[in-house]
Amino acid sequence: MKTYWNTTKMRNGKYCRITFLSFIIIGSLFSLSGCNGKTNAVDLNPNSIFQYSTLSALLEGVYDGEMTIGELKKHGNYGIGTFNALDGEMVLYEGQCYKITSDSRVIKVSDSEKSPFAAICTFVPDTVIKVGRSLNLKEIKHYIDSVLPSNNLLYAYQISGSFDSIVTRSVPKQQKPYKRLIEAYKMQGVFTFTNQKGVLFGYKFPKYLKDVNMDDYHLHFLSIDKSKGGHLLNCVLSDGEISVAYIRNFSLRLPDNSYFNTTVFANKKEELLKIEGGRN
Ligand SMILES: [Zn+2]
Repeated sequence: MKTYWNTTKMRNGKYCRITFLSFIIIGSLFSLSGCNGKTNAVDLNPNSIFQYSTLSALLEGVYDGEMTIGELKKHGNYGIGTFNALDGEMVLYEGQCYKITSDSRVIKVSDSEKSPFAAICTFVPDTVIKVGRSLNLKEIKHYIDSVLPSNNLLYAYQISGSFDSIVTRSVPKQQKPYKRLIEAYKMQGVFTFTNQKGVLFGYKFPKYLKDVNMDDYHLHFLSIDKSKGGHLLNCVLSDGEISVAYIRNFSLRLPDNSYFNTTVFANKKEELLKIEGGRN
């Protein structure tokens, strides 16, 4: 059983020494307090998730919101979500917003575009785990789960490195009257890429917030050359780094439109399981 030491540069530009153990060993939990600092505007509130609308609303077809990308960016530099009319998958990465379309294009998005659902944060990892061998998505989840301090926190993740394979999806722009998500996702484009370098970013919410956001890993992919991406369905990570932020602050803003106000939220968990491909 080997113990490694590593020095990792955090998002705020400071360096922190982290401990990680070889695979299958519980990685040490790193205290953020020693390296967290306020160095720029988006670091004012690190590791606080700002979310617009709810998963329940999205499942019911509330696909239009008033939230602009520019407003979302005021709450952080990393995030995932979608766009009005369910027009593609969103990745906010290092302050730039990207849209992955249902025909697998990656487009830079302007600040004026609007979103019906997004979760944004300023990402400052608490734990960084080096991955030295091939892991499939099930193994990645199992491994991360084994190092988390609690099931009751919110978590943000970045998984960066080389992927032997990665399967993503994106849903095409919807026409009114909007279908529920269980119907809309049947029109999704599914993309399989091999030998990609890139980044997965996303969240896992606790079970008691499952109607607000997913109580399982929800990750979006962006390749390092910004040419490929989408909502993650499956992957094999060959080597890389898993960074985890523990989130204790969460703010939720709800849409201000009649569709959101009048929709009855069914909260059918089995639909989410289908949409997420059975959850790997
Ligand atoms: Zn997604």
